[in-house]
Amino acid sequence: MNELWYRIQTITWTSVLDVLLVTLVFFMVLVLVRGTRAVQLLRGVILLVLLALSLTSAVSLPAFGWLIGKTIPAILLAIPIIFQPELRRAFERLGQAGSLFRGFREDREGAFISGISHACQRLSDRRHGALIVLERDTGLQEYVDTGTVLDGRLSQQLLETVFYPSTELHDGAVILRESRVMAAACVLPLSAGKLHSGERHLGLRHRAALGISEVSDAIAIVVSEETGQIAVAHNGRMIRRLDATRLETILRAFYQPRLRRGWLRWLSGSKKKPSSPHQKP
Ligand code: ATP
Ligand code: MG
Repeated sequence: MNELWYRIQTITWTSVLDVLLVTLVFFMVLVLVRGTRAVQLLRGVILLVLLALSLTSAVSLPAFGWLIGKTIPAILLAIPIIFQPELRRAFERLGQAGSLFRGFREDREGAFISGISHACQRLSDRRHGALIVLERDTGLQEYVDTGTVLDGRLSQQLLETVFYPSTELHDGAVILRESRVMAAACVLPLSAGKLHSGERHLGLRHRAALGISEVSDAIAIVVSEETGQIAVAHNGRMIRRLDATRLETILRAFYQPRLRRGWLRWLSGSKKKPSSPHQKP
């Protein structure tokens, strides 16, 4: 009891701060990787290290102990390489704390969203396949560079024209940054995630939409050439069978509550779907 009291007395505010900072770092890491494939990997690595450490401390195993001692630094070195996409997104978010205040731009976003929705409805009616990516906090310059740079003001007509079949630019994705059409005919990464049973038949356009939504916080809209269906991919998930009204509702749900959800989104890395994309925001 005395010892416990002694220990408590030795606690200073700096040691409390120390523990809090370590807790914060672990919390941030967990929040960042939550819901991603990195979680399974992290869990596996921690389990393996714990098992190895407890085995080597319980029994004297010099050779195994030496091997573990040498591999742990290598594993620590490998983690930033394996988690590179997650880390990149985290640092990008840190550098974009100003984006928390984007809610003030809602009016401009309103016109921009209805332009996109109307264009998608027209493309869908005519069965013109389309893939439109809306850049958000994660920069997509590397994908813009794979296409033909347009850097033009967004309009419904421009989107419809770009995706007119047999034109030069219709193949590939259009990337939008704010209300500008940055490039067309861009090549996106294909989804690396496991597709659900209902998604296995999906073709490359849909997989590319899922792919870009896995490596960034972008929103990708697909208009199917085969069925005319409109779908939206975000955070590695796809909401399908949409019409222009539902598409507009979903896009507004992603954009409008920015200010309110700013801190939450910043912390969680936009890993969650909007809480209710199907409801009116
Ligand atoms: P749809 O329902 O329109 O047929 P889908 O998902 O079945 O779409 P595909 O039929 O394979 O897909 O569509 C091929 C088109 O998708 C290509 O012509 C090209 O425009 C686009 N596409 C394929 N791969 C990519 C990629 N990596 N990045 C961007 N666009 C791509
Ligand atoms: Mg197809």
